[in-house]
Amino acid sequence: MLTIMEAVQKAAAYFARRGIPSARLDAEVLLAHVLKLERIDLYIQHDRPLLRGEIDAYRKLLQERTRGVPVPYLTGRREFFSREFFVNPSVLIPRPETELLVEAAADWCKGREGPLIVDVGTGSGIIAITLAVLLPGSKVVGVDISEEALAVARRNADYHQVEVEFRRGDLLSPLQDLRGRIDAIVSNPPYIAAGEWEELPREVRQEPAAALLGGADGLDFYRRLLLEGAAMVVSGGLLAVEVGWGQAERVAAMAGDLWRVKEIIPDYAGIPRVIMLTRRAG
Ligand code: GLN
Repeated sequence: MLTIMEAVQKAAAYFARRGIPSARLDAEVLLAHVLKLERIDLYIQHDRPLLRGEIDAYRKLLQERTRGVPVPYLTGRREFFSREFFVNPSVLIPRPETELLVEAAADWCKGREGPLIVDVGTGSGIIAITLAVLLPGSKVVGVDISEEALAVARRNADYHQVEVEFRRGDLLSPLQDLRGRIDAIVSNPPYIAAGEWEELPREVRQEPAAALLGGADGLDFYRRLLLEGAAMVVSGGLLAVEVGWGQAERVAAMAGDLWRVKEIIPDYAGIPRVIMLTRRAG
């Protein structure tokens, strides 16, 4: 007979031997998922014996995790902005840094009446949906090139009971009818340089390459957003983007005559992470 706590301890030790960085946490999250409990309940019910079927289901997840599958793909969920979102391998797993982007964009939009906001490369829809939740009265459109990603995003919008319009297409191309009327473009585009793929942790390499790779220097999508976005927003409109390590200066330098760099926001580790640009008049 194996109790909840014994199972967690065994799994955590097994993960640690296999070099899984957050061994204990992963062991707990996966068992809670199998038992349909919150993590805290594992402690409250620590001496509850596990059933055969529960042990088998747990063992299967442990094996997949040691093969490099990230925990959110095993549980099908990830928290973002204190809300739960569905994820699967067709979307990027939400990162905490992206909350800074959403917060900054929401603050900027608060000053506007019924703003029209576009989330480019919406993936699981976290940015679009959280903005729609935070900004009642806004109109939010989420764009992605991947139909599989949009299916996840639609499911998340339903789950959070917000109206977000999702459109399929390359970057801003499916938004031609909104030309010159968009108040804010928000995006966490793919920004890994092609040559860096092999050096990424194996967990990250399980995420969609299309959600991660940003061309030879990783900056392709910023170039396009700055250029194509300039024609889409109202005068004084916002372009808010998340950037990778060491990219903030280079992206800010690309603002040119079209955009003014309003603010560069560092993340929790002090790395410049979000760039807020506004469209210059004329
Ligand atoms: N917008 C989504 C996110 O921030 C997806 C980003 C992406 O696929 N690059 O998680």
